[in-house]
Amino acid sequence: MSRIIVITSGKGGVGKTTTTANLGLAIACLGHKVALVDADFGLRNLDLLLGLEQRVVYTAIDVLEGQCSIEKALVKDKRQPNLVLLPAAQNRTKEAISPDQMRQLILQIESHFDYILIDSPAGIEMGFRNAVVPAKEAIVVTTPEMAAVRDADRIVGLLESEEIEKIHLIVNRVKPEMIKLNQMISVEDIIDLLVIPLIGIVPDDERIIVSTNRGEPLVLEEPPSIPAMAFNNIARRLEGQTVPYLDLMAAHDNLMTRIRRRFFGN
Ligand code: ADP
Ligand code: MG
Repeated sequence: MSRIIVITSGKGGVGKTTTTANLGLAIACLGHKVALVDADFGLRNLDLLLGLEQRVVYTAIDVLEGQCSIEKALVKDKRQPNLVLLPAAQNRTKEAISPDQMRQLILQIESHFDYILIDSPAGIEMGFRNAVVPAKEAIVVTTPEMAAVRDADRIVGLLESEEIEKIHLIVNRVKPEMIKLNQMISVEDIIDLLVIPLIGIVPDDERIIVSTNRGEPLVLEEPPSIPAMAFNNIARRLEGQTVPYLDLMAAHDNLMTRIRRRFFGN
């Protein structure tokens, strides 16, 4: 039985696509067969983040229109043989595909994969339902900003009404130094507000922006950076392992010490 997980948020730009790409690779590296499904029709970018845009020939729409088989539409990852992408069509509106069609697509690939991660578009319109209807589990991504948390809260309500069995939370773009100064909502406060179990905390890190632009998900980097470790840990927690949370504050303090030493010699 494959695990079908929708990665969703409410507010746009909080890191759903970044999470789908990195978490998908991290799970594939653990030895599981993973399919990433881009359900963000109109704004196709999962292929860009994975650096696979040149390899996209057919999309989910071509499969639904009978232009090609689903096997043909699946794009194999360059680096990780366990990973494939089902691309969305560009230049299409979110209404290009119905929730029933989405369910049909997932049904066709379900038996071939251990994990299917569905990258959802922002908002709660049709595109959201497309991404959620075939899923059995959800990962809600939020940033530590009130607007994002409020939108995440609405999404949790919707997910609960869509028969999603398991819902987990990722808090992305955490800035420990701002939480320390009480300038940002803490992860504890977010959990208290949303009342769903936490599965990961990802720091705000420029390396994520660089990797996004390069089309090289950072989980593969050696040695692994703190954000890479954060995604790898989420993959292991999904597998049911107990993995302690990274001490982002300590990582931040270490960085500050190194900077101080380098520039001020103490
Ligand atoms: P969404 O899919 O929710 O719209 P994206 O994954 O496309 O969001 O991310 C939006 C932007 O935020 C991208 O430019 C990405 O590089 C950046 N980003 C996401 N997560 C982080 C992070 N932890 N640190 C720094 N930048 C991030
Ligand atoms: Mg996205």
